[in-house]
Amino acid sequence: MHRSSSNLSELIGNTPLLKIQSLSKLTGCDIYVKCEFLNPGGSVKDRAALQMVKDAIESGELTPGMSIVEGTAGNTGIGLAIVAKSLGYDLDVVMPKGQTKEKEEMIELHGAKLHLVDAVPFSNQAHFYHTARQMAEQNPKYWWANQFENLSNAKAHFEHTGPEIYQQTDKEIDVFVSVAGTGGTLGGISKYLKSQNCDIKTVAVDPDGSGILNYLTQGKYIATEGGSFTEGIGIMRLVENFKQAKVDHAINLPDKDIVTVANYVRKQDALVLGSSSALNVTAALYSALQFGPLNGGAKQTIVTIACDLGERSKSKLYNPEFLASKNIDPSSQTIQQLIKTY
Ligand code: PMP
Repeated sequence: MHRSSSNLSELIGNTPLLKIQSLSKLTGCDIYVKCEFLNPGGSVKDRAALQMVKDAIESGELTPGMSIVEGTAGNTGIGLAIVAKSLGYDLDVVMPKGQTKEKEEMIELHGAKLHLVDAVPFSNQAHFYHTARQMAEQNPKYWWANQFENLSNAKAHFEHTGPEIYQQTDKEIDVFVSVAGTGGTLGGISKYLKSQNCDIKTVAVDPDGSGILNYLTQGKYIATEGGSFTEGIGIMRLVENFKQAKVDHAINLPDKDIVTVANYVRKQDALVLGSSSALNVTAALYSALQFGPLNGGAKQTIVTIACDLGERSKSKLYNPEFLASKNIDPSSQTIQQLIKTY
């Protein structure tokens, strides 16, 4: 541990666990979030950004004078912006339109060049992923981070986040819950925890409109019904980082449940969660009810990820007009009513 750092990227990682007192009390379990919003770029993606860039420098793929390019829903762009700037590289970020303005603004404040492209299906060559890849293919000055296929992403979590969680729970973790965007977080952490104790239960949670649940249960990427306003998560194809994941249970939860839990935790625990974090915590609540004392089981120690804070999703998750446009009424169910449906 440094007493002081001279480079912001040195402050990435080593985040604390926070017990969600309100939900722990309601369920008789210990529910913790790993506070990844405390990374300097404000999200879990700082870890992947740092590991990908470090490994590329070490392997000689990324050399002084080159620029980094990446396609991202935003948080990887912010993480890369910090890492690139602090290690002396320029950065081009390709983002689909329609992500929250808050993330676009942060990327530009960090001095990265932002390219907004239409939000189109992956099969379309104008997709943000293909745009970043093509930029790197057409110009040798670019190094493409490629967070979906670049295994340095999951490695960050296998070597750091997973061991941190295991130590912070005194090796007594029972359940790990995570969303997946690239699968780096779920892949690296679940693989590490299972390598230490194969009895630790791992739960993957998917938003509406994503294909992870059906892939894990039926082997096919078929989207679940509806859509979700969550950003940076859900996936419709098998990528290398997700392949690392060791998952016991897969669930799919709707946005209306995320809103109920996010507002409950906001009021009870002073924690304004981002939308993927709110889905994680909703799934941790679900897991506590399935495996814990209220269903005849033992008290569970459950850990999930607070990927980022609600500042990055306030124009959606905490915006009543936006929610109304999605036919979600934040007062339509209490936490007690939600618990009864689980
Ligand atoms: N939450 C947020 C807010 C994200 O931006 C992302 C990544 N896009 C994730 C979760 C998913 O993380 P991973 O890529 O490690 O699966």
